[in-house]
Amino acid sequence: MLSLLRYKRKFPYLLQIMAQTRRSSSLPDEWPAKRARKAKRNNGTPHAKAKTGKYIDPVNSPWYVGAHVSVTGGVENAIMNAASIAADAFALFLKSPRKWTSPALTAQNIEDFKARMEEYHYEPRYVLPHGSYLINLGNPDPKKREKSYGCFVDDLHRCEQLGLEVYNFHVSAVRLRARITPVRGNINSSRCPGSSVGTGTTAESIALIAECLNRAHKTTTSVMTVLENMAGTGYVIGSQFSHLADIIAAVEDKSRVGVCLDTCHMFAAGYDIRTKKGWEDTVTKFDQQIGLSYLRAMHLNDSKTELASNRDRHETIGMGFIGLESFYHILTDPRVQGIPLILETPEPETYATEIEVLNALSTYTELDDKKKKALLTSIRKSVKRAGPPYRSNTRKRKGRKKPQQGEKKNDEDEEEYCDH
Ligand SMILES: [Zn+2]
Ligand SMILES: [Zn+2]
Repeated sequence: MLSLLRYKRKFPYLLQIMAQTRRSSSLPDEWPAKRARKAKRNNGTPHAKAKTGKYIDPVNSPWYVGAHVSVTGGVENAIMNAASIAADAFALFLKSPRKWTSPALTAQNIEDFKARMEEYHYEPRYVLPHGSYLINLGNPDPKKREKSYGCFVDDLHRCEQLGLEVYNFHVSAVRLRARITPVRGNINSSRCPGSSVGTGTTAESIALIAECLNRAHKTTTSVMTVLENMAGTGYVIGSQFSHLADIIAAVEDKSRVGVCLDTCHMFAAGYDIRTKKGWEDTVTKFDQQIGLSYLRAMHLNDSKTELASNRDRHETIGMGFIGLESFYHILTDPRVQGIPLILETPEPETYATEIEVLNALSTYTELDDKKKKALLTSIRKSVKRAGPPYRSNTRKRKGRKKPQQGEKKNDEDEEEYCDH
């Protein structure tokens, strides 16, 4: 009863915040795609409305917030899934992220994808396909590396077939079974034993990754390969900015390489972005070591684990150890305007609310306690609405077949990987 009264007291303020967000949603000409997409939503095409039953207007903002959306039924369905949660950017898989081979895209898939991109006014630069989790271009075993490379190049071809411009992939995969205790949170450490099973050094793995990228750039025509920073779990390259800088330095065609910064991975790797100063210092470090011109995308995730945990455990925005305030610093930083800012938080059912909250943050000149409380309340409510199945950490593993006793495991089971 007490919580109901509290909720009633807060309600007028929530309405006020929502009205404030709505007021700023008449879009100027600088963002014609957003304006057109809003018009499209208001027309209410039946299939696009099906998912949530309502649309939330985009705010007048140069920050392109979106989420990783489902491609169930075909890659072309990602576009409506993104539009239905008012995403101004989106990520998708181009094939199963846990299989070495998948059926090729059909001419129909490609035609529908391109048609819907136009219909919903999404520009290719705000679409960030996510690579297979199995890819490990730094694997010192030549046979396994070649297999990863094949899977990687296949993804790049799919991007080009769909007319997409950027492709995000994990710099290295994790082999959990062979994991040793990582160097916890020491972002300046040079003791990282290299990706995969520790038979290569960091420098060797970096050289192998760059060599694969150079080869891939020659095999394909235009798609930009975007390196994602890692959380530092086990034997992993890419948790430190210096690793990414070294890879980029060895890439011949610099116009074909960029970086996607994942907030959860950064935090897990020891970059403290919780305060305004922490965020500023981290961006300065990024600029000094890599260069801001290489920042092509971000993954916006809160973290289930504390600073420098080296664990890759995403949490809903505002509900984890990073906290809502850090996202306010990011969503008001002009240096991350005009690039896809993608949610990979655990509950797709809360994406629409998280996008709305992040967009609201980008319109504030300050984030006081009252606003913060109201936004957190709306996130908590959406998590509650999503219900228990979406809180399960094992959900993602559903559908992976456990090998029966005596049965030989297939290649997918041999490789362990990091989700998102
Ligand atoms: Zn992750
Ligand atoms: Zn990510």
